[in-house]
Amino acid sequence: MREILLVRFGEVYLKGLNRPVFMRALVRQVRHAAEPFGGHAWLSDSRIYVSDMSDAQACAERVAMVFGVHSVSIATEMEKDDFDAICRQASQMMRDKTGTFKVRASRSDKRYPYDSPKINELVGGYILQENPQLRVDVKNPDYVLVIEIREKATLHIGRLEGAGGMPMGTSGKACLLLSGGIDSPVAGYMIARRGVKLIAVHFHSFPYTSERARDKVVELARILSQACGRIDLFIAPFTQIQMNIHQLCPEEMTTLIMRRQMMRIAGCIAARERAQALVTGESLGQVASQTMEALACTDDVCSLPVFRPLIGFDKIDIINKAEKIGTYATSSLPYEDCCTIFTPRHPLTRPRLDAVREGEARLGEGLETLIQAAVDGAEKVVVEDGRVLQDPGHPQEAEG
Ligand code: ATP
Ligand code: MG
Repeated sequence: MREILLVRFGEVYLKGLNRPVFMRALVRQVRHAAEPFGGHAWLSDSRIYVSDMSDAQACAERVAMVFGVHSVSIATEMEKDDFDAICRQASQMMRDKTGTFKVRASRSDKRYPYDSPKINELVGGYILQENPQLRVDVKNPDYVLVIEIREKATLHIGRLEGAGGMPMGTSGKACLLLSGGIDSPVAGYMIARRGVKLIAVHFHSFPYTSERARDKVVELARILSQACGRIDLFIAPFTQIQMNIHQLCPEEMTTLIMRRQMMRIAGCIAARERAQALVTGESLGQVASQTMEALACTDDVCSLPVFRPLIGFDKIDIINKAEKIGTYATSSLPYEDCCTIFTPRHPLTRPRLDAVREGEARLGEGLETLIQAAVDGAEKVVVEDGRVLQDPGHPQEAEG
């Protein structure tokens, strides 16, 4: 008898030509997630099993975060031939429970001496006899004890909800524009959950934005990497471009023109790193630069597709999601962002594209050089599995 994890994934992804690619990636990532707990993972009967983990609960929680996993149960695996032992184990699992329960058996081994209704009856009866505090309720029980008879017998109660989505790396690579705010980490998580590997770009306007603001973004990337795997985060120097915009461009357009330069720089870094799309945390109408007209002005400079997974989300939905993925507390720390320091008093909400292009032209011929300098001058921070592996800003800490 031993403790194992039953890891379920969505049947929908099993269809079609991508199935082997999907399965290989999923097994690899479950294996990787179980590794720190000494867990051994394998695929059998359209399930992934994990055994030999040092801490089943912690391992189950970690495995549930893997994209593509729909649910995880901690189960007892035992020989199926000793039916009395199965009854005793079932009773043991219900011993500290009160209220109502039912047993739900299934067997793929049709030669097993009892069919499923009989197993329900026998095991249910035994549990009742040994645990007088419990009652049976087949319609709406507090607990369902599941017994599966396959190669072995497994018993479990309840399940942890998995992250869902598609296994990491099965849908390509995208570049997230990661600010220190609430929205962009959530946007990155949502795209990563569709199987997309992330890289990220952050624009840093030192000394207008502090080292603490930079550290906050590294921390957000680190948190994201618990679910999203390795993320290469590029911290691009943005001060010079922002100063020029501030000095030369019409004030009411400065945010928009700044956003256009962010997209240009991110587009160059994405191309260099072979990412196929940009991802932002924009949501329709949230601020002046996120009206339909303003988004069209931003898209004007992008040749890669721009994914905006939060486009139809209310702020409250985004906050709930940020809490769930663990980024909210860090995002809420009150450090300045480069968007907030040069904010125009009356930004355009319905900008005309030709007027914005004209306003931007005041930056002159040197703009391209400045953009290239921001691309080339970007520092690379590497985070993976919730750890900072490389950070030129804090070299000793990252190594340790
Ligand atoms: P967030 O909460 O993510 O900061 P926001 O509501 O503050 O979003 P904006 O500041 O207008 O919105 O930014 C819109 C999007 O532009 C962000 O979601 C992010 O993708 C990108 N962005 C903004 N500032 C930065 C920055 N300093 N570095 C990288 N990306 C940025
Ligand atoms: Mg922001």
